[in-house]
Amino acid sequence: MNRIVPKLDATLRQPAELVAQGLAPAAGLIDLEKVAARYAVAVTADLAALIDRGDPDDPIARQFIPSADELIGQPGENADPIGDDAHSPVAGIVHRYPDRVLFKLVHVCAVYCRFCFRREMVGPGKPNALSEDACRDALDYIRSHREIWEVILTGGDPMMLSPRRLGEIMADIATIDHVKIIRIHTRVPVADAARISPEMIAALRVEGATTWIAVHANHPRELTDKTRAACARLADAGIPLVSQSVLLAGVNDDAATLEALMRAFVECRIKPYYLHHGDLAPGTAHLRTTIEHGQDLMRALRGRVSGLCQPDYVLDIPGGHGKAPLGPNYLSRANSRERELSPEARYRIVDYCGEVHLYPPKP
Ligand code: SF4
Repeated sequence: MNRIVPKLDATLRQPAELVAQGLAPAAGLIDLEKVAARYAVAVTADLAALIDRGDPDDPIARQFIPSADELIGQPGENADPIGDDAHSPVAGIVHRYPDRVLFKLVHVCAVYCRFCFRREMVGPGKPNALSEDACRDALDYIRSHREIWEVILTGGDPMMLSPRRLGEIMADIATIDHVKIIRIHTRVPVADAARISPEMIAALRVEGATTWIAVHANHPRELTDKTRAACARLADAGIPLVSQSVLLAGVNDDAATLEALMRAFVECRIKPYYLHHGDLAPGTAHLRTTIEHGQDLMRALRGRVSGLCQPDYVLDIPGGHGKAPLGPNYLSRANSRERELSPEARYRIVDYCGEVHLYPPKP
């Protein structure tokens, strides 16, 4: 493997910088400029160092280096693929389920993922940064809805805020009696692990609510020593960690990679939580798989790793109708032939090797 680690300390944001660093071919610069004019680009030094410049199909590059394929739209793709706007009662809040809200605090991220379902909403220059007044209104909304038990800070990436600002908002949320859980969705432990500083960790621990962190990573190579150390700092501070990943063609859509990713999460004290089917975000068709392929991979995973390593494979139903588990389903009604063979049998169950068993079994 020809892995060259560049000496970088700044985030790369311009296609020309990516070309200069050997992360994108010079011949594609004009197309990359077109992509960058529409969707934000940022590759942190940590992630640039992970990219194998000798591999044209590098799974880390595929997630962060823009591609001309992003200029190709597909029917069904939508600027708001999971219907945030339809469920937004006030700026910054998405209230889709009764007991929880998304609180979109910031519109910037440490890195910009090429498959992002909020790609039309995140990045410098996007119109939905939350003002101080809007932030106050969002807090008032949460305060006045007693059914809200959990507040999910997302964005953008909430860990792009300074520890002081994040701590203030966390403390404000935690003073609301009925809010018991604050969950933070972040890519920062992977993209810029140094931000998980003692100050940041202190900001995350608040009186009156329990903090959970959902760490976003899609390939086992993202769980570097630095990232593992950052996750250990969070876990050692008593903050429970869960994972979220996106199933991505050419990144993690094979059983061995998914297995290694889930094992790496568990080694880092991160409980695998969600494996998202790719959303219908514009210009992301080249990164989506079929649902059937996703189900095959989940079947394979069931046979390879323990329950501790199993995420839920889910789809956000377009239009904002919430998440649905995509299976696979291991249980179905016994058919008439099976009931003739075994009159007690009501169900057929498929085991992790693909063999069918009737249930209840013959006495
Ligand atoms: S970090 Fe999250 S919000 Fe930001 S670009 Fe990646 S997927 Fe989108």
